[in-house]
Formats: sequence, structure tokens, C-alpha cells
Amino acid sequence: MSTLPHASATDVGQRRDHNEDAVFLDPPVMVVADGVGGSAKGEVASRIAIETFVRAAGDVLAARGSDDAARAMERAVLASNAAVHDAQLVDDSRRGMATTITAAIVRDGGEVVVGQVGDSRMYVLSAAGARQVTEDHSVVAELVRSGRISPDDALVHPQRNVITRALGPEPEVSVDAYTLHVGPGDWLLACSDGLTEHVADDELAHIVVGSSGDPARAVRQLVDLANERGGTDNITVAIVQPVPSDVSGELSIEAIDAAGESGTFPVVVADTPAETSGELPVLEPMHAAEDDGWTSSPERRSGSRLWIAATLVLLVAIVLVAFTWSRSYFLLVRSDGTVGIDRGFPIAGLSTTHRTTDLDADTLDASERERLVDSHRLLDRDQAEQVLEDLPRPLDTSDAADEDD
Ligand code: MG
Repeated sequence: MSTLPHASATDVGQRRDHNEDAVFLDPPVMVVADGVGGSAKGEVASRIAIETFVRAAGDVLAARGSDDAARAMERAVLASNAAVHDAQLVDDSRRGMATTITAAIVRDGGEVVVGQVGDSRMYVLSAAGARQVTEDHSVVAELVRSGRISPDDALVHPQRNVITRALGPEPEVSVDAYTLHVGPGDWLLACSDGLTEHVADDELAHIVVGSSGDPARAVRQLVDLANERGGTDNITVAIVQPVPSDVSGELSIEAIDAAGESGTFPVVVADTPAETSGELPVLEPMHAAEDDGWTSSPERRSGSRLWIAATLVLLVAIVLVAFTWSRSYFLLVRSDGTVGIDRGFPIAGLSTTHRTTDLDADTLDASERERLVDSHRLLDRDQAEQVLEDLPRPLDTSDAADEDD
């Protein structure tokens, strides 16, 4: 297996003064760890995690089937967690250190056993594009999964570096451990967030699959690209091809471009907004995100257009109501049993008394009363007065209660 094509690199980046990431790649074992802790020695955490993991990796290879292999993977990651946790208990300067871990162990037949805690990532890359096969244990990933922000929002969210699971803080941790299968020519890529902060998924596929069988060149290109775009964090990447194929070196850039044009690649925003702070998983102030131009986004503009439209609709509705009110009279039976005319809508108190009479509604023929009085027909003023005049009894009106017009 050690002949599998592979390469790895780790780089401090442009903003940090030391590298807290660590990587181990000796096929069939590939592990990336992104240590956090600053003065609490994130680089110690990532190294302890990887060393411990590698010692336990043999169990994953020796496992009989996929399920056993996944359980062995979980145990190996739990052993790493225990080692990082214990290490800080015996040394105060290491208190608070933690690390992510993203591990792959390649077994026969293209079976890959994956172990994951934190927000480092693993991808399967092919000419069809990049498929992320790990879940980020991060605040923004939870927000995306619950539908509260979009994947594009996550790329620029101020809390995008805050992780929800890590090795070290607790004696126990929940581990994602599972197996997957890759095809001939596919590449596995593991990386820290310092790479994916700056390099889009489709670019990972483009560079690695298009490297013409030169994996060392591919990882160099990826690190260079992240640095050119700001290098805001430590950058680590490892790639391995679990099932080498004759065509692996022949998958051309053209083929990948064609796949991209046919819409196979996900569309990813490649913008890299500038960071103002270089140190560690930071909770950046909300205004930092607003200062770099995001507030004038198209979404915001279309939002204000919506408000203007809603206001116009409301104004039109008010004018219509006022117009109708000014024209509308209707006959009704008052609580004392007499017939009268009200003005405005015969609902919810939206009317005023226009005329009262002494005409007793009980003296009206039932069908006539139904037709003229109980139907709540809206009439104009003259019509209403006329109907009242025509009712079959001499009227003894007691006159206009309002002086409209
Ligand atoms: Mg990082």
C-alpha cells in the first residue's frame, strides 16, 4: 500500500507566528489535526493526537469487516482524545489546549475508514468535482444544517472558526466514524480550515485531479493559493489515491473544465474577505463583517424594494377604503326596532349614523324587509334615501344625524 500516490504539506500561513496544525501521511494512514489553544499549546495537542492515533491505527487495518473497522476507528480517536485531555491535566501551561482530527485509513478494495472530530475536512475528489465526506462540527455548519443560514453565508459568517467538538476539553467526545468506498482514480483529500477558508471545493478537485499524477505539485499549488488569498490561518493538506488507475494521470484539465461547464461542479463563492485579526478561533465583532461591503449586498437592496412595494399596496388599500366609505350607505334595523340609514361599512363599527326614522321594521312585509333592509346592500346616498322614501308607510323622519358633504 505504501506505493499509493500521495503527498502532504503544512504551512504557517501569512498571519500566524507559529503552526499549530499537524499532519501524518504514510499510506494507508492519513491524519490531519488543527490544534487550538494559542499560548496553551495547540501544536502540542495536534501532535499528541496524531501520535496516539497512529499507534492505534493497526486495529483499524486488522478489523474483519466494515463495522469492526469503524468501531476500531472510533476507539483510536477516543484514545487520542484521552491522551490530549490527560496531557493538560499534568501541565498547567497546556490547560485549554484542544485539537480537531480528520483521519482516513485505506483498506483493500477502495474501502476507506473515516474518523472525524472538529472542522477539518475530508473530500473525495474526481473529475466530477469535490464531495465533502465529513461533517463540520462547527457553529456555522449547525446553522446551515438547521436551515438558518445558507452555505454561502457560512463562508463569511463571523463565527465560522468556532468549533462545537474537539479532542481534549472533555474526557469523552462524540466521534464520527464510518466507512466509504472510492473508485479507481479518485483522490482523498484531508485538510485544515486554513485551506478551505480560501480555496473553493471545485478548485480542490481541479488542482488535484488535474495534477497529471504529480501529487506533490498539487499540494504545493493548494498551499500557495491559500497564501496568495491571505493565508489567514495555518494551512495543511494531505492527499492520497486509494485505488490508482491507469487513467488517473490522464484526467485532463479539459475534462474537468468540461465537467464544470456542464454544471457538475457546485457553484462556490470564491471571495476571500480580508480578516482584521490573525489570532486564533476568534469571535470577530459583527461590524467587522459589515465593514467590508457586505451590507450593500443585492439581498439587502431587494429587501428595501419589498418594503416600498408593501407600503404602496397599503396606501392604495387605505385610499380604496376611504373612497368606498365616502360613497356607501345602507339600510338597517336599529336595536330599538326602527329602520335607519348608516354610512360606511356595516361591519366592525366602521359606520356612522346617517339617518334615523320612526318606521317600525315589524310593519314591513317580510320579503321586502329581507330584500331592502337585512341584506346590507351598499347604496349611494340618493339610492338609500329613495329606498327609505319608497318603503310602504308614510315616514315620520327625525332627521339627519350628520352633515356630511
Ligand atoms: Mg485552523
